[in-house]
Amino acid sequence: MTEIETEIPKQTGPRERVLRPGLPSQKSGLERYRVAGGGSVLFRVFGGDQIRIIDIEGKQPSEVVAFSNGRCNVALLGATITGQGDGLKKILNSKSPSTERFKARLERHQLSLENLHSVDLFVDGSRAGEYTSMSADAEGVVIVSAPGGAMRPEEQMPPTDLEVIIERANPNIAAIETPDLPEPLADPLIDSRIPKRTAWSYEVKAGEWIQVIDVEGRECSDFQAFSAAQLDKGIERCLDVTTTRSLVAMGYPQPGLMAKYYDQDMRPLIELVQDNCCRHDAFGLACTAKYYEDLGYPGHVNCSDNFNSALGRYPIQARPGWMAMNFFYNTGIDDQNQFYLDEPWSRPGDYVLMRALEDLVCVSSACPCDIDSANGWNPTDIHVRTYRAAEKFKRSIGFRKRMDSEVEMTKETGFHPHTSTLTRNYAEYN
Ligand SMILES: [Zn+2]
Repeated sequence: MTEIETEIPKQTGPRERVLRPGLPSQKSGLERYRVAGGGSVLFRVFGGDQIRIIDIEGKQPSEVVAFSNGRCNVALLGATITGQGDGLKKILNSKSPSTERFKARLERHQLSLENLHSVDLFVDGSRAGEYTSMSADAEGVVIVSAPGGAMRPEEQMPPTDLEVIIERANPNIAAIETPDLPEPLADPLIDSRIPKRTAWSYEVKAGEWIQVIDVEGRECSDFQAFSAAQLDKGIERCLDVTTTRSLVAMGYPQPGLMAKYYDQDMRPLIELVQDNCCRHDAFGLACTAKYYEDLGYPGHVNCSDNFNSALGRYPIQARPGWMAMNFFYNTGIDDQNQFYLDEPWSRPGDYVLMRALEDLVCVSSACPCDIDSANGWNPTDIHVRTYRAAEKFKRSIGFRKRMDSEVEMTKETGFHPHTSTLTRNYAEYN
C-alpha cells in the first residue's frame, strides 16, 4: 500500500483580492489612480512604495500632501515644501457631493488639515506625459490633487486629469485595506452588514427606503420581499419576477417609468429608485443546493437555504429554490438560447435604492458562490441600510463616463420644477 502525502498549501499573509474591479488588471503590487481635473485622490502608502504622478494632457498643476500619524508631513516623501496646500483647501471648500465623500474619507483616516504643506508639481507648464517620481520612507497617507476651477465659456484651459501609479514595495500589506462604504444617504434606520455566504431578514414600513450596497464590488445579493399584511392573513405573496418582467417589458426594472416589482397578483410591492450598477438578473433562481450538487459540490452553502433559515421566524414555507431579484448578478441569454453568467459589473460601494410600497418582510443575501464567476470567484459582504419614509431621494441612474471614472448619478434637468407639476412619470432617455 502506498501512502500519499498531501501537502495543504499554507496561506501566507492576507488573501489576495482584486483592488479595483472592472479595470484592466496590473501586475501584483502595481496600482493606478486617476485624479479628476479639479479633484483629489487619497491613498495609503507604506515604506518603500514608489509613486509616479503623470500629467496626462500637459499644463495641469498638481499638489501632493502627505501625512504621517494624521499630521501633515511632506518629508515622508523625501520632498521639500513648495506650497501651503491651497489647491486642496479650495477643493475642500467646494460644495459638490464628491467633495462631501472625500471629506468623509479624510475624517476616517483622522487627518488634521492644520499647518498644511504641499509639494507643488508642474507649476511652470508641463508637456503631455511629463511625470515626477517620489518614494515613501514610511507608512502614511498621501493626497494628490489636480487643482483648477470651472472653465469660463470663452477660455480654453479646463483642469485635466492626472494619473498616479504606485509600485508597492510589499503588495501583501497594501492589499489588506477593504474599500470604504459610501456615506449613508440620510440617517439610517437599519445599518447592517450581511457577512459573506449568509442571508438576513428585516422588516420595513410602507414608504421606507432600502439600500443594498455591494461593499467590495462583484458580489451578488439576492433579494425577496413579502407583503406583511398578506402574511398576517396567512397568504404568502412576494416578488414574482416573471410577472414583473411581463409588466415592465424588460429583463428587470430600472429607475423611471418601469421601476416597480410586482407579486403574482400584479400588486406592486417595491419601486427601484436609484441604481448605479444597472446590471442585475431576474431570470435565475437564488443559488440552490442542487446547482452546487450538479457541479460536483454537494452540501455547498447556498442563497436559497440561507433564505429559508433567515425567514424561519415568519410563516413562510421553505423552498428548495427561491425566485428572487438577484442584484449585481451579471447574466444574459445569448443568440444560442444559452443562459450565461459572468463577473458582476458592480464596483466597490455600488448600490440599489428601493422604496417599499407597503409594509414588507425582506430578505437579502451575500451570495456564497465561489465555484464560478458569479461573485468574481470570491464571495464578499453586502451592506443593507434603510431610511425613514419622510426622506426624499430622487430617481436616478449611475453612469461612468470612462471605465476608470467615478460613478455619476443622472440629475433632474432645469425643466424639472415645471414639468414635475404636470406628471409624476419620467423615463430615462440617455
Ligand atoms: Zn447565491
